[in-house]
Amino acid sequence: MIFFSTTRSSAPVSIKKATLEGLAPDGGLYVPSEVPRFSAEELALLESGTFNNVAFAIAKKFVGDEVPLDTLSKLIDDCYTFDTPLKELSEGTFVEELFHGPTLAFKDYGARFLARMTGFFAAEERQMITVLVATSGDTGSAVAYGFNGIPNTRVVLLYPSGKVSRLQEQQLTTAGDNVFALEVRGDFDDCQRLVKQAFVDPDLKQRLTLTSANSINISRLIPQSFYYGWASLQLRKRFPGSPPLFSVPSGNYGNLTAGVLAKMMGFPIGHFVAASNANDSVTRYLESGRFEPKPTVRTMTTAMDVGNPSNFSRLLHFYDNDFRKMGEQISGISVTDEETVDTIRSVFASGGYIMDPHTAVGFRALEHYRRKHAGAGYPGVVLSTAHPVKFDEAIMTAIQREVPMPEEMLEIMEKPKKATLVGNGYAELARLLQNLDR
Ligand SMILES: *Cc1c(COP(=O)(O)O)cnc(C)c1O
Repeated sequence: MIFFSTTRSSAPVSIKKATLEGLAPDGGLYVPSEVPRFSAEELALLESGTFNNVAFAIAKKFVGDEVPLDTLSKLIDDCYTFDTPLKELSEGTFVEELFHGPTLAFKDYGARFLARMTGFFAAEERQMITVLVATSGDTGSAVAYGFNGIPNTRVVLLYPSGKVSRLQEQQLTTAGDNVFALEVRGDFDDCQRLVKQAFVDPDLKQRLTLTSANSINISRLIPQSFYYGWASLQLRKRFPGSPPLFSVPSGNYGNLTAGVLAKMMGFPIGHFVAASNANDSVTRYLESGRFEPKPTVRTMTTAMDVGNPSNFSRLLHFYDNDFRKMGEQISGISVTDEETVDTIRSVFASGGYIMDPHTAVGFRALEHYRRKHAGAGYPGVVLSTAHPVKFDEAIMTAIQREVPMPEEMLEIMEKPKKATLVGNGYAELARLLQNLDR
């Protein structure tokens, strides 16, 4: 399998190169030259398989012989040591809980696979890969715990001092010896500026092989299709002939793009709802055919506050730049903060289920879709992207309840914080990076 850039002005590459590079040299995002298809027989066999069986079958099609099959199989088992429950809240309405990984959010699915693929290819190249990330919270923690202890890799992450929650800070600063947390005296924009400067610093380029781990890496995208494939096959057993709708709380649209990939591979998926908060540039595109990104606005679902989603170019690519074609498979629905709080409240009132605000956006959008399209959207699956404990203040506001912390998280909360406090000037960061090997 080869991968080319969405802008098509650089040479096609292998999955190894696409994984180690992240972004294509022409600034585009890597996409597979051709999306692999599963035959009806293959899908029938997978129906009785485990989550990891489905993950392996999908990964194999993209990775080909670039990772030996037994290595790939072990790699997958090492990634997904936790469950992916599909819970039915009411007849035909499901939440797929993607928050049982170490950092309690769906980003663990992508980050853990990316880390192990990077480690494998780095070892093959006899390289030490340094992952440099600026984070406002969620991505950084998934990356820190994803790369934790992976040979041939190390992570340097920058986060704004005093601007992440205590739970997030514990997740950012307690991973293993190959993860270096820098607590920056400044804001998230300072962190991003510092990282950008490091990537173009010629002195650093000579010393370190730097890579980023943001959501544009193809090895973060592919694994996010695993849980769509798996859930669609589980549901086919109960609802044969009625492929499910997936409602996806979206920010950068990586998650949704992975769903589109799963559908193209032949998994039985009916329709998608792209659920957004007030950052609705894709929703507006789906109505008008015009993509007019706006500055990011702040909402209570902070992980979805993205004005100009990076994966939109991949979506365009998969639908041949045709918004009608995209609209046949994806409906965009935008949800306000008031509706989000209201949804957390009403879902809790009607059955005791506590959902995080991001999940609530997805749930509300599904309800909205069903009202507009009578009888459609059954079965419907809302992707639950985070554990409610990560957003406990919002839960408290909505339903006046404390969310009990899961066991694993209690352990992380007890670990000593390991971070280096730095200023927001570049010289200090450059010195630190240059001395990583000493
Ligand atoms: C990152 C994130 C999202 C948005 O996912 P995208 O792939 O960027 O669309 C939604 N919910 C939570 C909790 C997240 O961390």
